[in-house]
Amino acid sequence: MLQDKRIYIQTSKVLKNRTIDIICRGVLIKNASVLNKYYKKETIIKACKDGCPNFGKKWSCPPLSKDCHELLDKYSKAILISLSTSMNNYMDIKNKYIAIKAANITLKNLIEKTARKIETKTKGYALLSGSCRLCKSCACKNGQQCKHPDQMRYSIEASYLNVQEMCEELMGLELLWYKKKRLPEYTSTVAAILFNYAVDIELISQIIEDEIRNY
Ligand code: SF4
Repeated sequence: MLQDKRIYIQTSKVLKNRTIDIICRGVLIKNASVLNKYYKKETIIKACKDGCPNFGKKWSCPPLSKDCHELLDKYSKAILISLSTSMNNYMDIKNKYIAIKAANITLKNLIEKTARKIETKTKGYALLSGSCRLCKSCACKNGQQCKHPDQMRYSIEASYLNVQEMCEELMGLELLWYKKKRLPEYTSTVAAILFNYAVDIELISQIIEDEIRNY
């Protein structure tokens, strides 16, 4: 069996202006090469080119980003994790676009902190959620080299893996999107950590719980 160890954490988090529920799902993938199945470079490049202002303007984004094959050659195992929250937690925000943005910013920051912690613990390499946000404006826009190449990480999609299919098939999670000014029932962010050593899934669960508690 290629994936057998799962994480499911249901909790709530008190933020400055609201309390949100959080569901964390995770799966340990014993053979990271299964991720090759989700490699969809052409489709992802086309979608980014057609729909994202960051295309070609950030070192972390297509077509400048790193192909997942470079990483899958180096790492044998992976953990896929997602954080989801109900949009009911944001119903007080009248502007629906701002509501989804607020929810996603919280989840993205939280999953980034968590994935970087797991990366350190596993001596691995994290694929995060969304484009790199380490600098106020990416140096790429001024034709300069990346300012923090050691800390910069790509997103799963920017390494040309179809995150939607991965979530559905490996975690049973359907990713929902804000469309036509309509809020989805819930929103999610996803990260993956690639590594080589045996890891204790209980330890990973504990890291996630600690990061949510301390956020
Ligand atoms: S670290 Fe800065 S320069 Fe490098 S990709 Fe991220 S935002 Fe761009």
